[in-house]
Amino acid sequence: MIERVIDGVRWIPGKDRFLPDSHMYVIGKDGSEDFSLVDCGLMEMGSYKLDEVESAGIALKHVKRIIMTHTHIDHVGCLPEILQAIPHAEVWVHKDEAVYLERGDDRIVFGNQMFESVIRSQYEVPKDLFAIKVHRKLEGGELLSLGGLPFKVIHLPGHSIGSIGLFNEEHRLFMSGDTLYADGAIGRYDLVSADPIQLKQSLEIVAGLNVDILLPCHNRIVRSGAAIMVKNTVLQWGPLLAS
Ligand SMILES: [Zn+2]
Ligand SMILES: [Zn+2]
Repeated sequence: MIERVIDGVRWIPGKDRFLPDSHMYVIGKDGSEDFSLVDCGLMEMGSYKLDEVESAGIALKHVKRIIMTHTHIDHVGCLPEILQAIPHAEVWVHKDEAVYLERGDDRIVFGNQMFESVIRSQYEVPKDLFAIKVHRKLEGGELLSLGGLPFKVIHLPGHSIGSIGLFNEEHRLFMSGDTLYADGAIGRYDLVSADPIQLKQSLEIVAGLNVDILLPCHNRIVRSGAAIMVKNTVLQWGPLLAS
């Protein structure tokens, strides 16, 4: 079920199967006619999410763009099916992963050989399914105006080279992708393009945001008071990531 987090931000929980399915967030104030989707999900998990978007009274023609926090299979897997339904939508990805996506290099998408063989055993994956045009290559530092809400793009390499977070200062609301989750968990740092030292630095950046509302791409969300949890997550993981 789609849930309102604040005015202009909605959450559509993922439906995990044998692999996780990322949550999707929908940014845009009602009446703005300018909506953004943040992340998509695993293969075949797009249509129920678009149904949820419509059930919230948002016309799909008003969905202007899809912003990817990064391009792992559990986030980008159903991007092709979503683009079939809303071909007018732009795709925005950090430039360091856009180069892979645009040339159909799916090493970051799959992350490792094991995930690739699991996915290929379960789904038909046509060649070039993940050769996707990126309309805007993000760099980090941009201040985006998304349907009436400002969000700053924060580049957070570590879980993957082009991972980003989206931060709304007014509500201290942070979409963390897979960089960190609630309850002390962080993203894997053993996949293609991951880097534990960079992840440590990225976690420290997040700790500096003094986040109140934490919206990760998996598991539960934190609706208020996330700052202490985030700081403890960094304290817990910092020494492990640096060793
Ligand atoms: Zn990921
Ligand atoms: Zn994920």
